[in-house]
Amino acid sequence: MTARILVVDDVPANVKLLQARLTQEYFDVRCATSGEEALRVCAEEQCDLVLLDVMMPGMDGFEVCRRLKGDPRTHHIPVVMVTALDQPADRVRGLQAGADDFLTKPVSDVALITRVRSLARLKILIDELRMRAATSREMGLEDPLAQAAKASGENGRILLVDDRLSSHDRISKILKRHHTVEVESEPQEALFKAADGNFDLVIVSLALEAFDALRLCSQLRSLERTRHVPVLVVAEPDETPRLMRGLDLGVNDYISRPIDPNELVARTATQVKRRRYAERLRDNMQMSVTMALTDPLTELHNRRYMEGHLQTLIEKSHAARRPLSLLLLDIDHFKAVNDDYGHDAGDEVLKDFSRRLRKTIRGLDLACRLGGEEFVIVMPETEIGVAVQVGERIRALIASEPFPIQGGTRAIDVTVSIGAAALSASDREGTALLKRADEALYAAKRSGRNRVSAQAA
Ligand code: GH3
Ligand code: MG
Ligand code: MG
Repeated sequence: MTARILVVDDVPANVKLLQARLTQEYFDVRCATSGEEALRVCAEEQCDLVLLDVMMPGMDGFEVCRRLKGDPRTHHIPVVMVTALDQPADRVRGLQAGADDFLTKPVSDVALITRVRSLARLKILIDELRMRAATSREMGLEDPLAQAAKASGENGRILLVDDRLSSHDRISKILKRHHTVEVESEPQEALFKAADGNFDLVIVSLALEAFDALRLCSQLRSLERTRHVPVLVVAEPDETPRLMRGLDLGVNDYISRPIDPNELVARTATQVKRRRYAERLRDNMQMSVTMALTDPLTELHNRRYMEGHLQTLIEKSHAARRPLSLLLLDIDHFKAVNDDYGHDAGDEVLKDFSRRLRKTIRGLDLACRLGGEEFVIVMPETEIGVAVQVGERIRALIASEPFPIQGGTRAIDVTVSIGAAALSASDREGTALLKRADEALYAAKRSGRNRVSAQAA
């Protein structure tokens, strides 16, 4: 995983130190020595994470964080506040400013790399969602980002695995203000619960008395049903080697005792958010792939798919010196169908028209709805003469059989005009080819409709 991290600190030595450690882990590091500079870098470059010093002359870290979180262009970038150890009040102010996490100076290597990885992973999910959201907006669909933004990281379902009463009492008291917390002191029972319970986060105390907590973490990671649930461990101050082991096993994050409530709240929110984003992505994955490439009414491929795929087919044809032809189809006087029988009847015609197209073409051919009542059929390995014959077959199939409308209670005559064109040696992309097909289509319309016309290359 490579991510671009912006390190902000007014002391150049601090910047250098963090930069060196992060570069060693193959992160791409940018630096800024003032709040103003940090904002400028974030506005100009795609940053995946900001490590932000709190104490800076001029604009301090809280103000920088507030501005980043208040700007729609940067509010999705995770911000880690770097605070002094003896300033718990800073964390409260940091949370209020919208910080996603904290690091304490001097910054330990484990803490640095764990936080940065955990948040960079979250950022990748958010970016993916933002990208899909942009695609959906282009296609006029509901904005999934707006929904995802509601995934606040609050009201999570949390399973706390801890067999010490004083410890789990304290942790659940802190978290219950924001989440639903279920405590389980029996590790095997916890595993069953995690598999069944649809939790957003499992918190495991590394100091379990009767059971090796790391074994539980490893089981949570390997079970199909719990693999995607984030795990946060609670570590004792002197347990660094075991903690490292846990992080190797796939534990997402950790918090050290004595627990700072603000830190626990921030870290829990990050994991719950991550879980929700990931779930939404998984849910939407199949749907958006289908939606992005097919037309919902006719279930044919859409223009976006056609344009991408036509390019591939053209390159293949040139490389293999094989022919390729294309038909452009436009239903005749379709506006009149809508006007006379209603828009729903028009839709019924479009569906049946598409069904007939699919039935007629070879598997190798690609049928797409360009929009409205316009369709394209791309035919690899096909000379123009054959393409015209196929076009003629389609034309006859449409004209010969009336189209049922209004649920099959009546049927109307429909005809189609078709323009055919073939790939020429000089066509590098589909534009010229489509243009020639369009000219042929226009000629077919002009000479009376319900006919096929071909345009020479
Ligand atoms: P021509 O023979 O010259 O092609 O005439 P036409 O009426 O088919 O062409 P025109 O472009 O004037 O009208 C196309 C009509 O297609 C207008 C629009 O309302 C209708 N249309 C476009 N998309 C849809 C759709 O998804 N459903 C329905 N029912 N109608 C649609
Ligand atoms: Mg039209
Ligand atoms: Mg038309």
